[in-house]
Amino acid sequence: MSPTHGFNTRAIHAGQDPDPATGDVVVPLHLATTFKQDGVGGLRGGYEYARSANPTRTALQEALAALEQGRTALAFASGLAAEDTLLRTVCEPGSHVVLGGDAYGGTFRLISKVASRWGVEHTPADLNDPDALRAAIRPSTRVIWCETPTNPLLNIADIALTAEVAHDAGALLVVDNTFASPYLQQPLTLGADVVVHSTTKYLGGHSDVVGGALVVGDDAELAEQLAFSQNAMGAVSGPLADWLVLRGIKTLGVRMDRHQDNAARVVEFLLGHPAVASVRYPGLPDHPGHEIAAKQMSGFGGMLSFRLAAGEDAALRVCERAQVFTLAESLGGVESLIEHPARMTHASAAGSPLEVPADLVRLSVGIEDAEDLIADLDQALAL
Ligand SMILES: *Cc1c(COP(=O)(O)O)cnc(C)c1O
Repeated sequence: MSPTHGFNTRAIHAGQDPDPATGDVVVPLHLATTFKQDGVGGLRGGYEYARSANPTRTALQEALAALEQGRTALAFASGLAAEDTLLRTVCEPGSHVVLGGDAYGGTFRLISKVASRWGVEHTPADLNDPDALRAAIRPSTRVIWCETPTNPLLNIADIALTAEVAHDAGALLVVDNTFASPYLQQPLTLGADVVVHSTTKYLGGHSDVVGGALVVGDDAELAEQLAFSQNAMGAVSGPLADWLVLRGIKTLGVRMDRHQDNAARVVEFLLGHPAVASVRYPGLPDHPGHEIAAKQMSGFGGMLSFRLAAGEDAALRVCERAQVFTLAESLGGVESLIEHPARMTHASAAGSPLEVPADLVRLSVGIEDAEDLIADLDQALAL
């Protein structure tokens, strides 16, 4: 598969050639933990032991690298397992990480509660303010950790600009691309060094698999170090998870098109509803990151949030009354989800700089019929 093939062609074929022995058009689910050697050290296709490499995982990794236009992709047991492996590879005691002020709560917890015990320091910074970002950098800064769009406020950071600041400081730019997916945004092409994914979300796309990935750009040495860590630390994804993510990836493009068409319809409805005080969606011209989003993304995605004029109780009521939107955490699946970040996904952020407004509701807009989604929100918002 060549990089000149279009995104959907790569999604369906990269790393997924028909099986040479059987002609299977779908990559088989390889459950074997060990592989017969043709004489001592005579490995077939490099396979030895399934933590080190497994053919189903290889296929997924090649597909992910092709979609992100990276050199190497590595699949992990979860998004956080990928992040942990990355941090432990590029940081050492005394290293410093600058992370966006509203990074994913689990990322913040990993850095502030776990990595900190091994001497890794961190500073939250507003990535939209280059002066504040530069001021947060120290000589020991190894990583700038950027998420765009963010959760649940859909803030946007300028990836190219942040990459420049990171590289001036001799640091790596890591971009968590979970919300956009590679269909809408390819951070490596904008200067990022590593892309992180929770494949649990849009890449898997069907709310039936937990997984994570790292994708590395041109830096061959970094790719090699991370591949070493993947095997040495062992937080690899299992073959069934790999198979499910690979299956999900085949329809990523068509799903994302529908997610964002539906999101745009829902946004339009919410903007016209008297119970709604404001809507956060990067596709809106008055969103503070709209211009940057329009520049670095090929669409605005399926995530949005909105605030209720009548406050927290009204927000809770909408979440509880919704029927087509399922009240649940997570995002990026075919089914629409609704949640109350202050009490659910972001409850642990209460009292911290990451605290979110109590009257905020977050939607992961699925691929159902837009009319049904709008009718559902209409009844849930009725007084
Ligand atoms: C879910 C999520 C993660 C963590 O991934 P897991 O697969 O749950 O470990 C990281 N970043 C973002 C933006 C996420 O939404």
